[in-house]
Amino acid sequence: MPLLVMKFGGTSVANIDRIRRAAKRVGVEVAKGYDVIVIVSAMAGRTNELVGWVDEISPMYDAREYDAVVSSGENVTAGLMALTLQEMDVPARSWQGWQVPLLTTSVHSAARIEEIPTDNINAKFAEGMKVAVVAGFQGISPEGRITTLGRGGSDTTAVAFAAAFGAERCDIYTDVDGVYTTDPRITEKARKLDKIAFEEMLELASLGAKVLQTRSVELAMRYNVRLRVLSSFEEQSDNAGTLVCAEEDIMESNVVNGIAYSRDEAKMTLISVADRPGIAAAIFSPLSEAGVNVDMIIQNISEEGRTDMTFSCPTNQVARAQKALQAAKDSGDINYHDLVADTDVAKVSAVGIGMRSQSGVAARMFETLRDEGINIKVIATSEIKISVLIDRKYMELAVQALHDAFGLDKAA
Ligand code: ADP
Ligand code: ASP
Ligand code: MG
Repeated sequence: MPLLVMKFGGTSVANIDRIRRAAKRVGVEVAKGYDVIVIVSAMAGRTNELVGWVDEISPMYDAREYDAVVSSGENVTAGLMALTLQEMDVPARSWQGWQVPLLTTSVHSAARIEEIPTDNINAKFAEGMKVAVVAGFQGISPEGRITTLGRGGSDTTAVAFAAAFGAERCDIYTDVDGVYTTDPRITEKARKLDKIAFEEMLELASLGAKVLQTRSVELAMRYNVRLRVLSSFEEQSDNAGTLVCAEEDIMESNVVNGIAYSRDEAKMTLISVADRPGIAAAIFSPLSEAGVNVDMIIQNISEEGRTDMTFSCPTNQVARAQKALQAAKDSGDINYHDLVADTDVAKVSAVGIGMRSQSGVAARMFETLRDEGINIKVIATSEIKISVLIDRKYMELAVQALHDAFGLDKAA
């Protein structure tokens, strides 16, 4: 039997009505002759609520128990979806991660998928089951404990299942009808892309566009999964969505194809550290050991053997970074005058494969921000992206201005 993976995000299973609507879509594919693996998220808002409870009880929580709690939202929707399908006379069964079993690393709250054995589910398909409904976002560690794959992780569950079962396609149903040139909630001028290259989607996702989890794009690229993003609210016929595909499959493309933003960034500066060989290692090794995800880094020119070192990291890791650096200072590994944290910054990035062959993109980006009176605090570039750190209050303005400046409302 040909097989499809269909993933429904939180807003697409937010209540019983929406679960019914999603189930109907699954029924349509079953009627066409497909076996279907449905991956479900928790009902909208549920995971945030669970995380909030954990934070309230234990701010420096044990990540194993965090996973035990926050994975539970998906269990409810998986069972409800299977029941809804059964009510429609579609043979369906639900599976929690450990039942599959979806095997992961033991890095709790950010586990990676190691293996998805297909035997259990395939045996049920062979018996006549038409739909396997799998709880997204969760797996089981080598120690036998429940793990989760990081926020937005159901996308990754879906792509990993599509790869493991050799699905014809992996359809990600969400609350927008595809991948846009930027978050359509920030500007009405955002334009839906019919296709986007894996590399661009990977950059956009890792720079903050949460429409797909970064890891899901990585997996789709590695295993060549046909990945589509589409709306669960629109009628099927006018719902082609966006295909995430190889660069070669895209004929026309702008130099910049997307603007991404990340709201919760912090900028940390170590004032006056001794500029000597090994200083960067002495600062960033303890940060890495403390699980701080350092993003951008700048080291200033040194004066009289001392320099300032600035880096960015997610806002919710500032306390951890401060603790790790204080410990390194106390033990004499590093020496700095002061550690200044600026938690009111955001990152805005322009992404496009065309940057490889066209110069001037950075200049245009900086001129656009200058014309809006926006000060740039840190800059980082790679082959196909330019990112800047700016005051958070200018984030939306910057996204809108850059979207205009690069003509993203018009197709190439
Ligand atoms: P789901 O719950 O279905 O997984 P998410 O909230 O995780 O949905 O992701 C969908 C959201 O991603 C959209 O509602 C949109 O606000 C946001 N988004 C950010 N950047 C983009 C983009 N470039 N294109 C489409 N959506 C985007
Ligand atoms: N429910 C989880 C989250 O909100 C996983 C997901 O929806 O992808 O992060
Ligand atoms: Mg999501």
